[in-house]
Amino acid sequence: MTRPGFAAGRAAYRLAGSLVRRVADWALPPRCPGCGEPVEADHRFCAGCWGQLRFLDDMGCASCGLPIVPEAGREARCATCFASPPVHAGIHAAVAYGPIARELPIRLKHGGRIGVAETMAGPMARRMPEGAELLVPVPLHRWRLWRRGFNQAVLIGASLSRRTGVPMLRDGLVRVRATPLLRGLSPRQRRAAMASAFRVPDPARVAGRRVVLVDDVYTTGATTGACVRALLAAGAASVAILCWARVVEGADD
Ligand SMILES: [Zn+2]
Ligand SMILES: [Zn+2]
Repeated sequence: MTRPGFAAGRAAYRLAGSLVRRVADWALPPRCPGCGEPVEADHRFCAGCWGQLRFLDDMGCASCGLPIVPEAGREARCATCFASPPVHAGIHAAVAYGPIARELPIRLKHGGRIGVAETMAGPMARRMPEGAELLVPVPLHRWRLWRRGFNQAVLIGASLSRRTGVPMLRDGLVRVRATPLLRGLSPRQRRAAMASAFRVPDPARVAGRRVVLVDDVYTTGATTGACVRALLAAGAASVAILCWARVVEGADD
């Protein structure tokens, strides 16, 4: 039961839907990005959600950013990073992943509330690594991009670029394969599955630059790890990771 024009019609319907959502995003009264309750201004959290967000600072491990003993100071590394230094130049997250932090990427990606990208970029801009020269968003596979209509990392990156003046190379990375199912795989198996999933189409534009990879949420690091390796292989001087939220042991309460 194939009908000519059905796919085109569906694409147009999706496009119209996303446009309506975008207009609605502007027309609706401001809502808390954590719980959806009305608030007084855009990009503000209600007091309840604000109190539940755990903002992160630079006092964690100098390599992976995870909290370590407070008196360890700046430049100190956790035992894991000390034993095997990571290939990236640091993970900088605005908040610890948790019930409220999780809502923002969900509203952005699945609710189409693209204004949430601005909300996330605010605290992320304050975590921009020193000496950053180029922002590269984690790319989506083209099928997912087609279904969603936008790449959340590009929206966040564009806002970060406006706020900090660090230029964004939108197509610095492309995804050549859809993400395989990683559940149940060991870290080594994940790395193998993700290797060659990303490609740098124009290495000359990243070569010698201090790159900041932009993503919404950092979980296992399998995706970002593959991106970091691809950028370093293309000649990037260093690659740090900047994200809205990351999983921090004991913070998801
Ligand atoms: Zn709220
Ligand atoms: Zn560490």
